[in-house]
Amino acid sequence: MAEDRSLDEFAGAADADRDDGHGDRSDADTAPESGEQSETDAEPVTATATWTADGADCDRCGEPISRRWRDGDALVCADCKDWSG
Ligand SMILES: [Zn+2]
Repeated sequence: MAEDRSLDEFAGAADADRDDGHGDRSDADTAPESGEQSETDAEPVTATATWTADGADCDRCGEPISRRWRDGDALVCADCKDWSG
């Protein structure tokens, strides 16, 4: 019996490694949003953290991550964030 688990596993692992513009798809088919678009689509209102769909490097350790936390002037991963502050 052949194991048929080809793409499921692979897709998750590969996502963090490459930067090929995966997040750049348009949903023209779904909702007819007319005019009402928030200017801060990617970032939460609090601005304590930022989300980058394609992933971006942590300013401290260089780890490629999607969610980075604001720590002073730097954008860092959860491991590097100084939570005591
Ligand atoms: Zn880090």
